[in-house]
Amino acid sequence: MPFTSSPRALWALVDCNNFFASCERLFRPDLVGKPVVVLSNNDGCIVARSNEAKILGIGMGEPEFKVRELLLMHEVAVFSSNYALYGDIASRVMRTLESIVPEVEQYSIDEAFVPLRGALAANAGEIADEMWQRVRRWTGIGVAVGLGTTRTLAKIASEKAKKGSGVCLLDAGPEADEILETTPVGDIWGIGRKSDLKLRSYDIYTARQLRDADGALVGKLLGIAGTHTALELRGIPCLDAANAPLPRRSMVSSRSFGEKVRDKQYLAEALAMHASLAGERLRKEKLEAGGLTVHIRTSRHGVEAFYDETASVTLGRPTSSSRDLIHATARGLEEIFRPGHAYAKAGIILYDLAPPGSRPGNMLDLVKPKSADGRNDSKLMRALDAVNKRFGRGMLRFAAEGKREAPWRVKSDRRSPGATTAWDELPVVKC
Ligand SMILES: [Mg+2]
Repeated sequence: MPFTSSPRALWALVDCNNFFASCERLFRPDLVGKPVVVLSNNDGCIVARSNEAKILGIGMGEPEFKVRELLLMHEVAVFSSNYALYGDIASRVMRTLESIVPEVEQYSIDEAFVPLRGALAANAGEIADEMWQRVRRWTGIGVAVGLGTTRTLAKIASEKAKKGSGVCLLDAGPEADEILETTPVGDIWGIGRKSDLKLRSYDIYTARQLRDADGALVGKLLGIAGTHTALELRGIPCLDAANAPLPRRSMVSSRSFGEKVRDKQYLAEALAMHASLAGERLRKEKLEAGGLTVHIRTSRHGVEAFYDETASVTLGRPTSSSRDLIHATARGLEEIFRPGHAYAKAGIILYDLAPPGSRPGNMLDLVKPKSADGRNDSKLMRALDAVNKRFGRGMLRFAAEGKREAPWRVKSDRRSPGATTAWDELPVVKC
């Protein structure tokens, strides 16, 4: 056949193995092969486990006091979380990926989606191998790479990769059917506990069954988000960075600037905007963050000296208040800002996400107001969210976020409307 179409675009999902525990081990080679766990803010719960710790039966999210005996008995190395370290190592991992592919979309602290188009898609296997090898060689962190035609399939492939050789391609065919058949619906990206129960009550137990299920039924049970997931399982891309499911334990909000930024004020505004966006998402998902890091860097390809720094900020107590988060970003920036650089990117990572009241705390937390500075922001935030929901995102903003037309903002005037993903951008028909 003389005519050949260009190869399909693929997604790679690169996920660091046992990330926090792996970071701790980087500087403690004596712990290689030994069980390691990392605790959340205030040493409350287990938030990361090395493979050896998993084998001991220490559960994810388990309160430390419940497994203390087990930890002692097996001489498990226990670390408090060191967000500054994890943020810095994560940034090295992302930079390493950027040295291989042009586009890297950091999704959570230790995961990135990498779009592979054209020639990149044609060589996806080699690129995946290179990512797997180079990250390990340059940073010491092991990763799993999943490949698929959609983000959801890439996610599932990465889980298989973790258990196998480190790289897995989920393509159409009997092999893919088998992988989807052995993936419980509850393990699919974006299928939460409630959706899992609903699907099970209709005898849909596996990813393969969800893929092949009647579209109308899925829509009725799970709404638009579930329909997207089912289509993604069929290889039809529906999710982008804006409507992708929220990561489970950490959240990233970061972006390259429209123009390079030298002004500290502009950096502060960009970080405040990320804090405000992340706060809104936290509240929507009914979560609070226990830790935050700020990240700023110059361009990797510039002629000037490269500068890349991460600061970790203590939040005092878990919060979902944008005001708290904005204050925290300002403190972080103060620590790492150096004049004279042309900054290309800024962002924040929120860690240790959990529903309010779900973590072991002290008794005083029950009576004290929620906000870090002693004020109670929940009413203010509710009002803010209500106004923005009704009149559009960004209608009510913090002064710290700066002007709408600031030079650091990415110009997106010509973005086409999210006709299939945003209610307020649906095409309007007049008759
Ligand atoms: Mg991971």
